[in-house]
Amino acid sequence: MSYIVEHMSNNVWRGKFSELPEEEVIHGFSCRLGGVSREPYASLDMGLHVGDFPEDVLENRKLFLSYLHVNSERLIAAEQIHGNRVARVGEKELGAGALDYESACKGTDALITNIPGAALFMCFADCVPLLFYDKEKHAIGLAHAGWKGTVASIAKETVRAMEEEFQTDPSELLVGIGPSIGPCCFSVGEDVADAFQSYYGTESDRILQDKEGKTHIDLWEANRLQLEQAGVLPQNIISADTCTSCQHAWYYSYRADGGKTGRMGAVIVLQKY
Ligand SMILES: [Zn+2]
Repeated sequence: MSYIVEHMSNNVWRGKFSELPEEEVIHGFSCRLGGVSREPYASLDMGLHVGDFPEDVLENRKLFLSYLHVNSERLIAAEQIHGNRVARVGEKELGAGALDYESACKGTDALITNIPGAALFMCFADCVPLLFYDKEKHAIGLAHAGWKGTVASIAKETVRAMEEEFQTDPSELLVGIGPSIGPCCFSVGEDVADAFQSYYGTESDRILQDKEGKTHIDLWEANRLQLEQAGVLPQNIISADTCTSCQHAWYYSYRADGGKTGRMGAVIVLQKY
C-alpha cells in the first residue's frame, strides 16, 4: 500500500502515504470536495491568493486541518513563487500565512523544520508537492515543484538544506511525491521542453515523452531523478501516481480547470515525542 485517500467526515477527504508513521508525523493532501467555497473554487479551496473569499478559505482550512488535529491559525505557509529558496522555520514563524497571504514566508518554495507542532503548509493545483521525513534526525520538509521549480532544483535544494541544518543523511530520507499533473496530461511547448532537455541532459529520455506529436514532461520522474542524484534511495521515494488533471473532479487542476480554480493544501507536522 502506498497512496490512499480516506474519508474524514462530511465529504472531506484526505490523501496520505501509508509509509509515513502517524505517531511520528502527521501529513495530508486535501481534495476538492466537502468545503464551503463557491464556483469556480468549489469547494474545499485552500488558497488565499486565488481570488476566493478569504473567509471561505479560512473555513475550509479549519475544516480540513481540524480532522488532523492541526490548529489552522498556527500553520506556517509560504508565498510560493516557483523558485528554489528553502526556509528553515520554527517557533518564530508559527502562524505565518495562516490567516492572510501577506504574512506568508516571502519568496519561498520549500519549508523545513525540526520543531514538533510546526505545521508546514503549501498550496497546489498541478504543481508537484514533495514531502520529506527524516526519521533519524526527526526533521521534515515540504516543497513546491512546478516545472520552473523543478528545473531550478528545488528538490535537490531541499535535501541539501536538510543536510546543512539538521545533518540529515539523504539515504535516511523518506520522500513522498503527492498528487499533481502527470505525464499523461502535461504537454509543453518548446521552451519548457528545452529547459528540461538541458537540465537533465543524457537522462532526458526518462522525462520527455513524445505523444501524438507533442512533448510531454514527467514531473514525477524529473523530481525522482533529482532526489536520487541528491542521495535519496530509490526505495525511499514514494509517489501518489495520481494525476490532478485526469482526476480534476477530485483535485483542483490549473490546466484542466482552465486557470481559474482553487488550490489543494498539503500539510506535514512532526508529532511530539
Ligand atoms: Zn493526466
